[in-house]
Amino acid sequence: MSPSDIDWDAATEEATELLSQYIRINTTNPPGNEEPAARFLEKILRENGIDDISFYDASDETSKGRLNMLARLPGDGSGGKPFVLVNHTDVVPVEREGWDEDPFAGLVKDGVIWGRGAVDMKGMGMMELTAMLQLKRQGIPLKRDIVFLAVADEEAGSDYGAEFLAREHPETLDAEFVLNEGAWGATDMMGSDRPAFNCAVSEKGPCWVKLTTAGRPGHGSVPHGDNALDRLLRALHNVQEWKRPRTVVPELAEFFAQAHEAGYVADEPSDGSIKELAERNPLISALTSNTISITTINSGVKHNVIPATAEATLDCRLLPGTDPDAFIEELRGVIDDPEVAIERVLVSSTPTSPIDTELMSAIKAVARDHVEDATVLPSVSTGFTDSRVFRSRGVTAYGFIPALMTAQESITIHGHNERITIENLRLGCQMIYDILLRTCT
Ligand SMILES: [Zn+2]
Repeated sequence: MSPSDIDWDAATEEATELLSQYIRINTTNPPGNEEPAARFLEKILRENGIDDISFYDASDETSKGRLNMLARLPGDGSGGKPFVLVNHTDVVPVEREGWDEDPFAGLVKDGVIWGRGAVDMKGMGMMELTAMLQLKRQGIPLKRDIVFLAVADEEAGSDYGAEFLAREHPETLDAEFVLNEGAWGATDMMGSDRPAFNCAVSEKGPCWVKLTTAGRPGHGSVPHGDNALDRLLRALHNVQEWKRPRTVVPELAEFFAQAHEAGYVADEPSDGSIKELAERNPLISALTSNTISITTINSGVKHNVIPATAEATLDCRLLPGTDPDAFIEELRGVIDDPEVAIERVLVSSTPTSPIDTELMSAIKAVARDHVEDATVLPSVSTGFTDSRVFRSRGVTAYGFIPALMTAQESITIHGHNERITIENLRLGCQMIYDILLRTCT
């Protein structure tokens, strides 16, 4: 049998049914409870003769069912270290009233699969699984292992997932190449009428801080100069007014240069043209600056009581190469009040994966094979993913969901009405299969 003999209609039908079942397993995190999802995937793998499966249970006294699973399709090793297909089994919560369909029913209607996780990332997990099953069924000899790594807890910081594996079972992260979420294709890249795929080679680092102030409580009818909430608001006002420079990091310079070369952006990249793009496009804006979102504020007990304490959380996201310590020092200067305490809640940064690799060449070739006129642009994720645990070990990890989504579809990720077309599911299964053929055989 040659690869072209695969009946992709049948494979897509199978993947659609399995994704529908997978969505029905509610792994909303918190609390996660990913064990039934891992067992579901295990069953499919075993039915297909893939028995080299290991489990890593991260459960503790406070959290149960946090199961991670690794399945291996062995190669002879002549091609180097494994290719790891990463996917997380948990999903973010839903606001049910915002949905037109039940987010956990696995509804398939008019060529579309609905539900939380349809894209992020049970959908991609199913693309990875389908590709692996097809390779197994074809009996194609592999020159390196292909690893299917289904991890828990990605949506809540990965403490029970990839970070747990990094701490307790680092051997599971041994790899040459990693394919993960982090970026996807657009049907109309940058407002053009042409499709393109983004492939994330790096990501912005979270720098979550909490600001706390203390003051003197008192009666609301007698204001004094030591109101904790006043102090916090002054600090937040300074943060709002802080003008941070627009910066095009080398990773993004490459993105803009290639987007121009491929004709997606008319203007030659320059400070002016990028500034203009950023003003129109919030994503480009986020990718060209260190951003701060004020996300929570807490203070006060009663209408007529001056509060003694106040706190606010800032979700800062730093460009690759930004030193979080230096950023926090700058923030301290901007707040300009030693009485405002700044506490680090979550700070992480990752190195960038190289752009010129065998994997990138394979992705570009496969994209050309499947989508006429589509380019693959190296990009940076605004969010952080499990790729960081691999990149910090020097492993090449790319964020690449091989699907071409409209802007309307992609905003459903973490939002209402998350869904994927069967056409995109098929494209993803085929592209990952072809990427594996090119890099592992
Ligand atoms: Zn995700």
